[in-house]
Amino acid sequence: MYAISPPAVYAHETVAANPKYSARLERVVNALQTPVEPVIFADEDLPRIINEERLFENCGTMGEMAEVPDPKLVLNTFRFDGRRQERTEWLAGEAGVSLHYATALLGYRPWQWANYNLAGDPAQHDKVCRPCWRLHFQRGCLHKCAYCGLGGVLISAVNSDEWCDNLGRLMDAHPWQETYLLEDDADVPGLEPELGCLGEIIEWFGTRPGRYAIIHTKTWNADWMRDLRHNGNTIIVWSVSGDTQSRLIEPVCGTTEERIEAARVAQEAGYQIRYKFKPIIPVRNWREDATAAIEQLFAKTNPDVISLCVYMWQDVETMKRRLPVDLLDPWALEAAEEAAITPGQTRTAPFPDDVRAEIYLHHLREIRKHNPEVPVSLSTENFTMWKRLEGELGCSATNYVCGCGPNATPGRRCLSEHAFKIAEGGPVGGFDGM
Ligand code: SF4
Repeated sequence: MYAISPPAVYAHETVAANPKYSARLERVVNALQTPVEPVIFADEDLPRIINEERLFENCGTMGEMAEVPDPKLVLNTFRFDGRRQERTEWLAGEAGVSLHYATALLGYRPWQWANYNLAGDPAQHDKVCRPCWRLHFQRGCLHKCAYCGLGGVLISAVNSDEWCDNLGRLMDAHPWQETYLLEDDADVPGLEPELGCLGEIIEWFGTRPGRYAIIHTKTWNADWMRDLRHNGNTIIVWSVSGDTQSRLIEPVCGTTEERIEAARVAQEAGYQIRYKFKPIIPVRNWREDATAAIEQLFAKTNPDVISLCVYMWQDVETMKRRLPVDLLDPWALEAAEEAAITPGQTRTAPFPDDVRAEIYLHHLREIRKHNPEVPVSLSTENFTMWKRLEGELGCSATNYVCGCGPNATPGRRCLSEHAFKIAEGGPVGGFDGM
């Protein structure tokens, strides 16, 4: 587990009441660098913890904060009692927090139907991702990436056994979804192996023929996974970046070298590994850094997919508040300033198409020097960029295999069916509110 000193640790009464779950709490607390007495709480205590004990005081985009402490820990259990709407509305109203936080704090967010590219998706014509169920086990992260807002509080469930039981029902109702991303609101290996949940999840997936967990991470912490009975049903996607970015903008994640070494360890233990260069931040020496990272990853590992995504989702002024501007390549920064693209125009703001295309093509050329075959795709890009690069990439927006979509099974080179499916029983079919 990471060496951390959270300013506070909270555990829900359902954690304390269950011997298996309280042992998980105890192991995590015993591994902290600075001893903390966990506070056991009930639902009714949450408004006070949120407002008087200022639970979320350290939350915000980390690059905009003067100081970034380790996150406070909140351990709870997922609930599958059908009371999600009633309970989350109660907490949101009582404590003045968003429904998103209320849902996470009360344990009502074990997964989520991602309505990508279907009616109702605000990014329907601007982002190529496929609709699918996305898994959640935590909300928050120990890493301190400057561009990220997931610091301050790390909420983690401890009842992975109940989570798996219910996930089995969801999977049975959606036979078309083969791969399940865990996750995009956290980086789950950080508290392991002390927490003891991710190993249970990996081994459970190992019992589900044809179904795969995709763990998305920037961690160096992979050694503990070696002896798990994963049965080939867990894929681990490392977000990698060049050396400068990894050390100066993503300071608590593994460095480029450490992440690739963690991937090598996982590969040696039989896991399928893959990479995302995401986000690619055009720092001054981004070309040399990318070339070196690609050389390193092929020297040590054999990924089945590599995805690329240039830094996006904000306007240039927001980016300049979050990132160390002096580190950025003046060519890319000036182009972004001149273009002044906003996320309202396209989610790929702030870097204009020509800048992003050049960055993608550089990565692609370097990858092809080492491996002419491995599928390379664009992650969360728009249809315009896909159209522009599909010749070089050798696949299109509707048939590419990516790092974490619903059918990104190990070794697949291209999708055989149309990518855009719907949830069973309507938008959520009862599974979203379990
Ligand atoms: S690893 Fe991911 S979730 Fe964690 S701080 Fe960095 S960007 Fe955020």
